[in-house]
Amino acid sequence: MSQYLQEVSEKVRKNNPGEPEFYQAVEEVLHSLAPLFNKEPKYQKHKIVERLVEPERQIIFRVAWIDDKGEVQVNRGFRVQYNSAIGPYKGGIRFHPSVYSGIIKFLGFEQILKNSLSGLAIGGAKGGANFDPKGKSDNEIMRFCQAFMTELYRHLGPTIDVPAGDIGVGAREIGYMYGQYKRLTHAHEGVLTGKGLLWGGSLARKEATGYGSVYFADEMLKSRNQGLEGKICTVSGSGNVAIYTIEKLYQLGATPVTVSDSSGMIYHKSGIKLDVLKQVKEKEQARISRYAELCPDAVFTPVSAYPKGRNAVWSVPCQAAFPSATQNELNLEDATELLKNGCICVSEGANMPSTADAVNAFLAAKISYAPAKCSNAGGVSTSLLEMSQNAVMMQWSFDEVDAKLKGIMSGIFDGASRTAKEFGEPHNLVLGGNIAGFRKVADAMIDLGV
Ligand code: GLU
Repeated sequence: MSQYLQEVSEKVRKNNPGEPEFYQAVEEVLHSLAPLFNKEPKYQKHKIVERLVEPERQIIFRVAWIDDKGEVQVNRGFRVQYNSAIGPYKGGIRFHPSVYSGIIKFLGFEQILKNSLSGLAIGGAKGGANFDPKGKSDNEIMRFCQAFMTELYRHLGPTIDVPAGDIGVGAREIGYMYGQYKRLTHAHEGVLTGKGLLWGGSLARKEATGYGSVYFADEMLKSRNQGLEGKICTVSGSGNVAIYTIEKLYQLGATPVTVSDSSGMIYHKSGIKLDVLKQVKEKEQARISRYAELCPDAVFTPVSAYPKGRNAVWSVPCQAAFPSATQNELNLEDATELLKNGCICVSEGANMPSTADAVNAFLAAKISYAPAKCSNAGGVSTSLLEMSQNAVMMQWSFDEVDAKLKGIMSGIFDGASRTAKEFGEPHNLVLGGNIAGFRKVADAMIDLGV
């Protein structure tokens, strides 16, 4: 890294104390940008990285609500409107007890480059609250979502900022937030994505992140004259991303054998039964151990039995891995074991699921490795398709949206791999993705002036 980029990196640490996930995301990008900065002095001259790492606006707010016992509860809500150079702010909302400004900033920063890479006109944002939806009643979830939107609505608009879901926020939460937005504004407008199909949602949005991650893996493998057909695949997580990764893997002839949640993992050697998984997670909203009750030949391993500091999903031998749970869920030891067991493809469905060391191990091994900014961009891209349908008050068919999604994923692969080749590292999609995503936003920022 040049001295200049090193100084920026140090400044980021100094100005954002106690936010390790945020530095991790920023430092990875600064490393990737070094060859671009050597070649192209204009970005340094216009101080683009200093401007890029600083969010345009950060909104932190109180969310007060009443639980089922009649007691007042208080949480902290966030919306970081990170960068709007190429389009309206766009990015999900996460409800999880781990949420704090460092998590929202890392996610918002990643979202800028991810949205740029999609080839669509969308800026970057992220939001959330340190609210734990686990164990809450439906009424409590509704009251929390309404209280959250009672503050957030004034910062949104269909061409200003359009949130969507993320961990802990699915169609139910989007519904309660959208209902409150409508009550407050009288407007039926595309101000959230991931909406229900009866009130402005898009077909294939729910499936999009998982499908997109598999389409991306397929593109990577095809470029090396391989494919997913016949491959044993491991998948972590059991939310929307994991479920629809599994669905698409089966459609392409692969066999997904694992799923997990925060309580443990399931290994089902003959292949995860999709209908059982949907029954457990979408209908019953139960813990993943329930899957083993319904499929006695599957093995459940509780988190307490994992080797120390490890995620047991990555010890299961596979040829392709799909980390689809959360940030930093796959560390260097996990990566080393995956490689030792013959894994040749990793496609990230979650945001930043691999630690920096794990990423370096994948890059050094020159396997087909897709950073989340490339491979999980299908969700936000289909959100843009939902916004487009809302703008013209139409609903497209599932196949139409799915075909557009496939085209977008293939475009992301082409853009990232072309850029990786331009900088002499043909298989390094971290380098290619970061530079391609950055260049578009940076050039727009220069055009728009300070
Ligand atoms: N939360 C998703 C992501 O990380 C989707 C964001 C969106 O659709 O706005 O990209």
